[in-house]
Amino acid sequence: MSLAYRIVFECPNGHNINLQKKCGSVSLSEAKAIKLFGNEELSCPKCGWHGKASGVRLLRILPFNWILAAAT
Ligand SMILES: [Zn+2]
Repeated sequence: MSLAYRIVFECPNGHNINLQKKCGSVSLSEAKAIKLFGNEELSCPKCGWHGKASGVRLLRILPFNWILAAAT
């Protein structure tokens, strides 16, 4: 079982964008998440916006089990 995080960002038009990442760290703060994933390219499934994760608002960090998540 490996720990992973679903990080929810908000696109400039107010939609949620989910980013799923494996992470060895047991606790991930918002500041740490931005540091680690700020360079990730996001794209909004609803309006087509895309850009860097560091340029948008981080809404939530949700830890989950990667193995279970892979099946969904
Ligand atoms: Zn959007």
